[in-house]
Amino acid sequence: MIPGKHAEKVPTPLTHMKCLKCGTINSRPFKEGDYVFKEVEEKCPKCGHNRMRIIGIYVKEEKEKKSKLF
Ligand SMILES: [Zn+2]
Repeated sequence: MIPGKHAEKVPTPLTHMKCLKCGTINSRPFKEGDYVFKEVEEKCPKCGHNRMRIIGIYVKEEKEKKSKLF
C-alpha cells in the first residue's frame, strides 16, 4: 500500500541576511519585497542590532528521488 501524498508542494525560499554591525548571518522565510542587498529591519540574534542586509535568497528544494525510468 502506498500512503496518499499531497502533490502540491510550495517551495519556501529562505532569505539570508547579514548583520550590518557584527556580520552575523541569519536566515528567515522569504517575504514579499525581499531582494539581494536590500537593508531590512531585522533584529540580529547575536548583537541585537536591527539592521541587516540581504545577502542571498535561496529556494529550498525538497526533491523526491524517483526510481522510475522511462
Ligand atoms: Zn549583529
